Amino acid sequence: MLAASLKPRLIIVSGPSGAGKSTVVKRLLADCPLPIQVSVSATTRPPRPRESDGVDYHFLSHDEFRRRREAGEFLECFEVFGRGDWYGTLHESVTTGLSEGKWILLEIDVHGAMATLETYPEAVTVFIHPGSLEELERRLRHRGSETEDSLRRRLEVARAELEVAPRYRHTIVNHDPGQAAREICQLLMSAGDA
Ligand code: 5GP
Repeated sequence: MLAASLKPRLIIVSGPSGAGKSTVVKRLLADCPLPIQVSVSATTRPPRPRESDGVDYHFLSHDEFRRRREAGEFLECFEVFGRGDWYGTLHESVTTGLSEGKWILLEIDVHGAMATLETYPEAVTVFIHPGSLEELERRLRHRGSETEDSLRRRLEVARAELEVAPRYRHTIVNHDPGQAAREICQLLMSAGDA
């Protein structure tokens, strides 16, 4: 089956922080023949070094985020990690790409995923699993970007997120990002065929 003849779908990828989602998604974009486009989310958290506005996120002030939320511009939005920072998917980030025949990929948390399924029940949901909580802690420590406090909080959130994994259509254990990306590409090809 040629990639171009498959029906484009919305793809939702979730998984705890440190499970390697971003690396798997990068490999998927590089290696999978489907026309996949990552939706750029909006957030109120400040940009990290090397992040740019409109590329990694739309970085919004709290006021601007609230204004757009109240105007109904978000497909879903949540306060992630309970730190007061909001993250959300703008309707237009999804509808424009889908109408152009692209597969739109959302890399969002489990609450956002469940809310999005209410609007797009046919979305392909993929949970990236780190293998175990111990493995996740090892990876987060190795990354070295977290304080002990934020590491604890991320692990607590991760524990709750792993419990939601069975609600995803597909769970991919990320031992190797290239292999995980190949598995996702294959399941997308089968989903687009349906
Ligand atoms: P980070 O601050 O590390 O970029 O992202 C933190 C978490 O926010 C990630 O686990 C990611 O899945 C989630 N996230 C990013 N964008 C969105 C979004 O648009 N909606 C929701 N619900 N979660 C998001």
